[in-house]
Amino acid sequence: MNGVPHPDLEQIERYCLGEASQAEQERIEEHLLICEHCRSQVQETDAYIAAVRDAAKEARGTQVSRKHPHIARSSGINDDTLAN
Ligand SMILES: [Zn+2]
Repeated sequence: MNGVPHPDLEQIERYCLGEASQAEQERIEEHLLICEHCRSQVQETDAYIAAVRDAAKEARGTQVSRKHPHIARSSGINDDTLAN
């Protein structure tokens, strides 16, 4: 340890959301250069935010089957089944 404190999860979340202040963002970026642990933390948070956004989008829209036709196909529902 060289005395650089890890940003806490809230700071990482703000950073991923682009809501961190300029100074905070710089501090976190500097820290990420030297800390693999926090880099993976940022990746996980990024993935989590993306998943939450996708879920929110799918809950709002009803274009899931058009966007992901492979899901319908792999579950045995295809155009032929629907036509019969
Ligand atoms: Zn760290």
